[in-house]
Amino acid sequence: MTLLDELAAELAERTSAGLRRQRRVIQGPQAAEVVANGKRLLSFASNDYLGLANHPRLISAMQQATQAVGVGSGASHLITGHHVLHEELEQALARFVGLPAALLFSTGYMANMGVVAALMGRDDAVFADKLNHASLNDAVVLSRAEFKRYPHQDLAALESLLAASRARRKLVLVDAVFSMDGDIAPVPEILALCERYDAWLMLDDAHGFGVLGEHGAGILEHFNITSPRIIYMATLGKAAGVAGAFVAGEPVLIDYLLQQARTYIYTTASPAPLAAALLEALNVIRDEPQRRAHLRQLMSVLKTHTPRRWQWMPSATAIQPLLVGSNDEVLRLSEYLLTRGLLVPAIRPPTVPKGTARLRVSLSAAHSEQDVHTLINALREAEVVLESAA
Ligand code: PMP
Repeated sequence: MTLLDELAAELAERTSAGLRRQRRVIQGPQAAEVVANGKRLLSFASNDYLGLANHPRLISAMQQATQAVGVGSGASHLITGHHVLHEELEQALARFVGLPAALLFSTGYMANMGVVAALMGRDDAVFADKLNHASLNDAVVLSRAEFKRYPHQDLAALESLLAASRARRKLVLVDAVFSMDGDIAPVPEILALCERYDAWLMLDDAHGFGVLGEHGAGILEHFNITSPRIIYMATLGKAAGVAGAFVAGEPVLIDYLLQQARTYIYTTASPAPLAAALLEALNVIRDEPQRRAHLRQLMSVLKTHTPRRWQWMPSATAIQPLLVGSNDEVLRLSEYLLTRGLLVPAIRPPTVPKGTARLRVSLSAAHSEQDVHTLINALREAEVVLESAA
């Protein structure tokens, strides 16, 4: 068997288990309605929670910056890729989340890998919620630190792991908002444990930034907390509508990361026009609080009007998972919704624990109330269709 035959056999196995991943080709703008594989669909699948990906002010900021500075940054940040637009964005992001300093990364995946591997090593231990995002798990493996995982949101288990640890440095690593559940980590309680056991706390606020807090500043504003122990990471390709990520915290931490984070140092800086669009995204998040209010209204419509047969998982964020349980049923439901012109992804194990297959509905300020009613009506009809097929 050649190497390629081996790969083909593995792919065939995936296909027969119904686990083959497929891409959709999107044409036209990223909006509530998208054209996917040539078909017009109402999408509940994007992380563009505030509807900024296609906002005229961001588009215009990016166009103007592109005219002025060109498209490529030409080098890494530490050579000649670091533009004044990146510098302004870092300062604006730090101010926005209420921390002293920030460092931009090209993606959230790279930020997580870069930070954990820079700070932690063989003599250290990382304590992580079992439902953390894959990029956080990969980051720990890369760092070679001892990896201690605790059951989802189980702070008693976290405390016993911290109490038993003899590691040199300790880092508690958590999603602030869990990406497949939409629930929020009890950050003040976790921070108290970090203080008791002298650990760092790294928060991945990919799904909270722009959404949580009165001004959209994310998890720290939501709980009104801050601490020099906090290493804050958020992505800029979700609510902020563009791409990239940043880490914020104490100036010493940020300076250290600039010296040591390999995913920062050894990669080309993202194009400066992206930074221009992101500076405008922060202005829009500030100037248009009605986007967050609208998002909250959509959550309440969804929860209030969905027939009782369907069970929403407890989530106060834009990620609203509908618990289905069986892999087959969630696939049939997602496929049925597709026939009705609705794009709602089915999430199955191993992405989520066995027996908890779900539809992951992502709401966005780009949706209208009517869009949400369209989804609710389709769920009402799915109830009848799926039961008669069963
Ligand atoms: N952390 C979390 C919780 C995420 O959901 C994601 C993206 N899905 C990332 C990190 C990675 O961010 P990016 O897409 O910018 O690489």
